Amino acid sequence: MPELPEVEVIRRELAPLICGKSFAEPVLFYERAIRYPRPKEFSRRLPGRCIVELGRKGKYLFFELDRGLLLGHLRMTGKLLYCAPGAALDNPTAPEKDLRVKLPFAEGGALYFYDMRKFGGFWLLEDLEECRAAGLSLPGPDIWEELDESTFVAMLQGRPRARIKPLLLDQHFAAGMGNIYTDESLFRSGIHPCRRVQTLTEEESALLYRTIRDVLAAGIACGGTTTRDYRDARGAEGSFQNFLTVYGRKGEPCTHCSRPIERIVVAGRGTHFCPHCQK
Ligand SMILES: [Zn+2]
Repeated sequence: MPELPEVEVIRRELAPLICGKSFAEPVLFYERAIRYPRPKEFSRRLPGRCIVELGRKGKYLFFELDRGLLLGHLRMTGKLLYCAPGAALDNPTAPEKDLRVKLPFAEGGALYFYDMRKFGGFWLLEDLEECRAAGLSLPGPDIWEELDESTFVAMLQGRPRARIKPLLLDQHFAAGMGNIYTDESLFRSGIHPCRRVQTLTEEESALLYRTIRDVLAAGIACGGTTTRDYRDARGAEGSFQNFLTVYGRKGEPCTHCSRPIERIVVAGRGTHFCPHCQK
């Protein structure tokens, strides 16, 4: 599933290609990928609106329009690919049957949304006030853009009873972390994924914040992590999977102590960690 680094990579690639362009009439191959408003209304409202800026909050892409806002979420298997005017979309990793939405631009070129599992989608809002009507509960502060160390440490102190891994995955607490980057950050901080937040020292909380920043930065610099489906806006794989220390490495030796990495389930999520190095 794309997490903050993958969505940020897509955002950085797409922004210079699509900002300033206006949407033409969308082509909906799977109407339920349009979450709000109704598909017919979406197709009526979108054409003519111009992309002013492409932002991101957590795992949501925010297309800021000259009128309103288009939100996109890739969920499990979504891919958002850009095809230049006159070029052929060359992406063997996304079969034609998974094409859900095509968003052509009046100036030529188009965005193609592929989604095998069909959990991803788009919301077209006149303003953020419309979120409630759209059944959309926006994420909390973005952990990359909107939180500094002291704010993050104070936020942790406000949730003493929570276990650290489920709290980091809670998009309403802080937005952007998913399973891979959370497991990697906890290992590199030496913190057991089941620790209650109240047992963390202030130093550990601050170290965790800095480690999360480092891990996210490395993920972005690598173009994201491709363990299965993820591709960037050009259809290319990321390479952070080559630098994973615990995620997906059950039974392999820990990079610190050489004992085997274990996999447990925490709050319903497969969790990789080293029981020797993470206290
Ligand atoms: Zn270890």
